[in-house]
Amino acid sequence: MQQDCIFCKIAKKEVPVQPVYEDEQIIAFPDINPAAPVHVLVIPKKHIANLLEITPEDRALAGHIMTVIPQVAARLGVAEDGFRVVINTKDNGGQTVHHLHCHILGGRFMTWPPG
Ligand code: 5GP
Ligand code: ZN
Repeated sequence: MQQDCIFCKIAKKEVPVQPVYEDEQIIAFPDINPAAPVHVLVIPKKHIANLLEITPEDRALAGHIMTVIPQVAARLGVAEDGFRVVINTKDNGGQTVHHLHCHILGGRFMTWPPG
């Protein structure tokens, strides 16, 4: 738990969300400012600041997140038409919350490359 980390507070239930998926290691919940009809964040409950902070000890956790994402996408009804997964990393990546999170975006066609 990192003091003043909003996603740690969500993971600890200090800030309420409506989870779309949860287990001991992960919670997924709707983005407060959705950029698509479906916009969910999948986070590890453990505080990891960003992708660069993942260590070999996090290998199983990282793999678990990758297996949960398609399950969440299916649950949200975007698996059939497709969706986008984004991990913004540090300033140039557009990261604003410094707790690792995967965006799942769907429900509309996504253009490429992003701005
Ligand atoms: P980033 O820009 O760091 O990749 O994405 C952070 C995301 O977290 C943004 O899409 C933002 O809308 C979302 N967000 C920030 N604070 C909160 C919050 O308190 N609750 C929820 N549900 N989403 C948040
Ligand atoms: Zn955190």
